[in-house]
Amino acid sequence: MAKADFKVPELQQYPEIPLLEAGTMAHSSPFFSKPEFQGPLGYPGELVEGWQEKAIDKMGELLGKYRSLRVYLDSCVKCGSCTDKCHYYLGTRDPKNMPVGRQDLMRKVYRRHFTLAGKLFPNLVGAEDLTKEVLDDWYSYFHQCSQCRRCSVFCPYGIDTAEISMAAREIMDSIGVGQKYCNEIIGKVYKIGNNLGLPGPALADTLEGLEEDVLDDTGVEVKYPLDQEGAEILLVTPSADFFAEPHVDGLIGYGKVFHEAGVSWTLSSYASEAANFGMFIGSYENMRRVAQRIRKAALDLGVKRIVFGECGHAWRVAYSFLNTLAGPWDFLDPSYPVPQHICEFTYDLIQKGKLRFDKSQNDDMVLTYHDSCNVARASRMGDRPGGQFEIPRAIIRATCNYFYDMDEETIRERTFCCGGGGGLLTDDLMELRVKGARPRVEALNNVMQEKGVTHMAAICAICKSQFSKVLPYYGMEMDQIVSLHQLVSNAIVLTGQETEDEEEAEEAEEAA
Ligand code: SF4
Ligand code: SF4
Repeated sequence: MAKADFKVPELQQYPEIPLLEAGTMAHSSPFFSKPEFQGPLGYPGELVEGWQEKAIDKMGELLGKYRSLRVYLDSCVKCGSCTDKCHYYLGTRDPKNMPVGRQDLMRKVYRRHFTLAGKLFPNLVGAEDLTKEVLDDWYSYFHQCSQCRRCSVFCPYGIDTAEISMAAREIMDSIGVGQKYCNEIIGKVYKIGNNLGLPGPALADTLEGLEEDVLDDTGVEVKYPLDQEGAEILLVTPSADFFAEPHVDGLIGYGKVFHEAGVSWTLSSYASEAANFGMFIGSYENMRRVAQRIRKAALDLGVKRIVFGECGHAWRVAYSFLNTLAGPWDFLDPSYPVPQHICEFTYDLIQKGKLRFDKSQNDDMVLTYHDSCNVARASRMGDRPGGQFEIPRAIIRATCNYFYDMDEETIRERTFCCGGGGGLLTDDLMELRVKGARPRVEALNNVMQEKGVTHMAAICAICKSQFSKVLPYYGMEMDQIVSLHQLVSNAIVLTGQETEDEEEAEEAEEAA
């Protein structure tokens, strides 16, 4: 079990709504972004002079730009439906981690400056000035929201706390109060092309190594091409897929699927990142700059299609905003969706009977599936509503013999966040990450006890990294989290590759 310098919550069999304990997470804040990380994103390096006035001006600008923000701040009736729906509240007991509590941090300032009642009678309507103390609370608690949108599913008015958190982060960035983890990463994408700062030659080395590994394992030459001009498909995937575990096993799987489909494909060293942290900091401009790299890579390489690898928020940005951020995509083949998810691609081949699987290759695992928030609640997949839930499950069923879902209240649209989304996947927030993972880990633990589940599959790079880090805090193994296309990779029988049964039959024949 991983050691913690904080109390790891005990797992319960039945969901427990905790008693309030004010201020339990007031100490939790991510590291501040330094001036060298702020500058490339267009933000001041440190808290600017006259920051209160500038922050209120920025809030006014956002209220004008995003009508939803004003509606959300105006329409809460304090019904309480959302209060016990946030994994961070359930894991920390802190009332400011209740969605409505988090919203109120901004709502109070909004009322003070943008409503008549708040200007005239602030005390009567709970209005508040933006003091340094309030700003500190914003920095702390708007970085305790993974922008998962679970609360919005239960709010009768559909109030989306994620959008309020994004706006708060954008306001803070604009006055020089940025978060190191997100802003440093976005800078790396601008400079090198991906979140991890992996240069082209390192990517080429990794891909060459994967080709050798697959050849050793299967006897089949599967290619993992980089910067191949004229390829039909550009695969845009999170950079974690190039080296992290279990992500890289997913990348191996994508390559095998493309190989069996007989299509030419390529990765790009210029757009070697599907993730788009511009969304986490609420910055449309940074989101656009990151997305533009994909457009340039697609044009430079002359591809006809774009496929996204397994990454939750990348898929949200791609599915919901890619056209407005970096379109029009009229130079791509209109016969295919722009963009397409790797799960759609694989599922389509399965439907057409073009992939052969030996499911027994996954018999050492009993699977469950974690719906990642940004896929589940902020996008779709395929041509039918609910495709984002059904397509990944159909792929698991096609490649594995043993699969059980977790409790209905914790999956599909109601899925719990892994605890590390929304730009919080950083070690300076480990306590929050571990405590926030509790509801998901509880549901996993239950299905482990009841059905003998051993592994959980996911299609999000952040979920995979988060679970491999936090599961050991709950006495589980880090490799209990697997990539969906890792299951595909294990089970797929490549053309020219012999299954174990065929090898055994051949050996028996020779012996006879
Ligand atoms: S969006 Fe998710 S993390 Fe943020 S308040 Fe709502 S439930 Fe909590
Ligand atoms: S569920 Fe919606 S209306 Fe009710 S308290 Fe929460 S945010 Fe406000």
